[in-house]
Amino acid sequence: MLIEKSSKGCSVAVVGAGIIGLCSALKLQLEGYQVTVFDPSGAGSKCSRGNAGHFATEQIFPLANPGLIPQLPKMLLSPNSPVSIRFRDLHKTANWMLRFLSKARYKPTTHATQALTKLNSRAMGSWKKLLDDVELSHLISSTGSLLVFENEQLFERYQSTLNAMTNNGVSWEVWHKEQLKSRMPNLANSVKFGVFFPDTSHTSDPYEMCLELKSAFLSCGGKWREEKVENVQEKVSRSVVVTDKAEYGFDKAVLATGAQSVPLIKRIMNIKVPLQAERGYHLMVTKNREFLPFPVSSADRKFIMTPMKSGLRLAGTVEYAAIDSPPNMKRASMLKELANGLLSEPISDDDFGEKWMGNRPSLPDSLPVIDQTEKGRILFAFGHQHLGLTQAAITAELITKMVNGDETQIDLSPYRLMRFS
Ligand SMILES: Cc1cc2nc3c(=O)[nH]c(=O)nc-3n(C[C@H](O)[C@H](O)[C@H](O)COP(=O)(O)OP(=O)(O)OC[C@H]3O[C@@H](n4cnc5c(N)ncnc54)[C@H](O)[C@@H]3O)c2cc1C
Repeated sequence: MLIEKSSKGCSVAVVGAGIIGLCSALKLQLEGYQVTVFDPSGAGSKCSRGNAGHFATEQIFPLANPGLIPQLPKMLLSPNSPVSIRFRDLHKTANWMLRFLSKARYKPTTHATQALTKLNSRAMGSWKKLLDDVELSHLISSTGSLLVFENEQLFERYQSTLNAMTNNGVSWEVWHKEQLKSRMPNLANSVKFGVFFPDTSHTSDPYEMCLELKSAFLSCGGKWREEKVENVQEKVSRSVVVTDKAEYGFDKAVLATGAQSVPLIKRIMNIKVPLQAERGYHLMVTKNREFLPFPVSSADRKFIMTPMKSGLRLAGTVEYAAIDSPPNMKRASMLKELANGLLSEPISDDDFGEKWMGNRPSLPDSLPVIDQTEKGRILFAFGHQHLGLTQAAITAELITKMVNGDETQIDLSPYRLMRFS
């Protein structure tokens, strides 16, 4: 067995090179550990590749909440709904759905809001520090984002959400029709209100961001192995990473395997963690790169449009399916109708490009797992649902503190793995 050593005298394996693993690996390598990343598919090849690029720090509410229940039947029965269940996979997803719905009560919602706020309020500070350290701060544009409303009653009902945001330190301002017309001329007349979130940011290419993080990691001396990890064994003096090719010894190992974490957690901890592949899709509009100054999401239509290097990215929709089911690209095509209703001029069919599907790693309480074993030789960072890009750098900071044995700046008990034991 190969045993890794470092100048700091401590080696760390990071399993998974999505945005969570990449940020954690880079942060640990910068801290002086000798880090090796394991991923058979390369950097950012799964969910982190095609997301909407929105650092959505305003999204502090869990997905299951008391307001969801009355809307659910209509959402699930309409074929064009932003939320759908793949009925042939129901035997694999029903248990998760029940656990998810059991969280749609006042107490769990308040608990999750507090825990999400703790991560989101620190998210951009951590991103700034990480990217400044490797001179990559140009990858993030901090120009805010806009949530638009076409239905007046929906906007009125949203007032209580805005009040809750204020109470949790989220800044926002309402834009009325005249402001929207002058500032956002490419939006349709049907848009009546906008809520602008000045402290949010976006990246114009989430995949490029992953590749840049990988390059920075390698430049700092990080190591890379394109191998699938089959198991991680915790021994007294080290953790052993077992791959499809060999076994390697490290002082510590971090698991950041996104929606594919279930089999590894079962092998390591003997827990069947309720992690659901909550699918989302994107559809690229190859033109219209300069069409919007920042991400615009629709409260009525439940999708987002983000200006990217390669065009305008239409993204969103939720589909509960088994992780190994093939994508249903009709869900990506649906985004075309949604966008055409929200823009002043319809997009020509010739201007639509790539369709993509990603598996969001979602736990029933909408909170990630950021934790370590009792012995502290194996750490866990997965389950960031709709907010993995947003929370990647703060997760990396917390993981690094745990590897160091330092006290973390926030109480990590809401993110414990054992809440599912
Ligand atoms: C349509 C859509 C839009 C989104 N928009 C946003 C957004 O605007 N803002 C936001 O914050 N979030 C957004 N998200 C969510 C975000 O993309 C995810 O939360 C995030 O990408 C999860 O990152 P991850 O590193 O945990 O997982 P992944 O990116 O899936 O990475 C996991 C990695 O682990 C590797 N792996 C798995 N098993 C093994 C193994 N056994 N051995 C070695 N490697 C392994 C995989 O190959 C993969 O590379 C969106 C998601 C979707 C689908």
